[in-house]
Amino acid sequence: MKTPPRNPKPETEKILRIHERLLAEYGDRPWHPRDPVATLVSTILSQNTNDVNRDRAFARLRERFPTWEAVRDAPLPDLIEAIRPAGLAPTKAPRIQEALRRITEERGEISLDFLAEMSVEEARRWLLSLPGVGPKTAAIVLCFALGKPAFPVDTHIHRVARRLGLIPQRTSREKAHELLEAIVPPEIYYPFHLNLIAHGRAVCHARNPRCDACILRDECPYPAPAPPRLPSSSLTLLLIRHAETVANVEGRWVGWGDTGLTERGRAQVEATARRLAKEVHDGVAIYTSPLPRARETAEGIGRALGIEPIPVEKLREINFGDLDGVTLEEMRTRYPDLYARWRDKTDTEYTWPGGEKRADFFRRVAEACREILSRHDRGTVIVVAHGGTVRACLAHLLPDRLGEWWGYSLDNCGITRLRIEDGAVRLLTLNDTAHLPEVKKEEL
Ligand code: SF4
Repeated sequence: MKTPPRNPKPETEKILRIHERLLAEYGDRPWHPRDPVATLVSTILSQNTNDVNRDRAFARLRERFPTWEAVRDAPLPDLIEAIRPAGLAPTKAPRIQEALRRITEERGEISLDFLAEMSVEEARRWLLSLPGVGPKTAAIVLCFALGKPAFPVDTHIHRVARRLGLIPQRTSREKAHELLEAIVPPEIYYPFHLNLIAHGRAVCHARNPRCDACILRDECPYPAPAPPRLPSSSLTLLLIRHAETVANVEGRWVGWGDTGLTERGRAQVEATARRLAKEVHDGVAIYTSPLPRARETAEGIGRALGIEPIPVEKLREINFGDLDGVTLEEMRTRYPDLYARWRDKTDTEYTWPGGEKRADFFRRVAEACREILSRHDRGTVIVVAHGGTVRACLAHLLPDRLGEWWGYSLDNCGITRLRIEDGAVRLLTLNDTAHLPEVKKEEL
């Protein structure tokens, strides 16, 4: 390793301490030059996918098209087929070909070796002018292939750097490049980048970071997720997704927007109310999202149990913002980049345009859970809400199963039962639909 800077800034001192520990944990990472064109293509392939899929796609690409000229001139459908394992192939294939054409037009050959002669800023500007090349891809080509002082920021580095307090919490990934380049000594860009990613993957996971086992714990201001404060006595919690809506039938995702119950939805409310009237003899409260589809469901149940539902703002569905009412197909075809990020359920920074960030949604639903549970210590409490909200409640109350939060299948009017006893939570039933002879599977 090269000599660290003299009189470093306090952030840089902290980075050097972290770097030493990461080196001890994950080892040194000597730099070796790589082919810049191969690095560029491989990095475009890596966008919104994992390393395994990227490598499979890259290997297929090289096998089917042995030269970069062959990739550039390949029929587009053939190229799409070759790189399919990387995902988003119809978007990535034309980007790769356009980039190779631009390089050919400007340099008369497919080579990026000329970048080595440029300053890092000139080379970065040139790379950013290529289609499909953003700050991360440009920095990877500069740092990995050419050994230039550029610091790539991927999703792991963005998350871990913010948690460690190296950059402000609200820093965008683009801005993070600039901020980290200013405080990380250029001599350690390459090993620090790789080791921070290794730490993000091994310990500092997006959901449920293993702070207790973390070698950087004393350098990290990130609060480990607080275990839910639970009543010490015995309580049964029923989580119920609202009845079927018109939007459910049409396959549209409605968050804070309005959509009425269908006739079948009203029948589901009646069936759920009848069942709960038979089974729940110690009901103490019904809480509901204030959105009409949840309220109508809660009011039907409330009439059967003789309990007036209490609306709770924080139980609303996630706010889909400008995309409220969108269908899965529209997401996939009209917003492919957004769709790819949305599919990564570990990405808590994912934000609906004009709407809510996943992390903020989780936080408010966790607050709603805590507030509701703090009011009761016995009996049965019913919460009527939405698919996303019920999943977020489960993620909060069952933190050891956090990774499964999106996998819970929840039907309209399905009943999920939790037992809270002596401060511990037990999942009794998940999405019980025995009272609903014909249920509509949730499509979101
Ligand atoms: S202490 Fe926790 S949040 Fe901080 S770096 Fe370690 S795992 Fe990540």
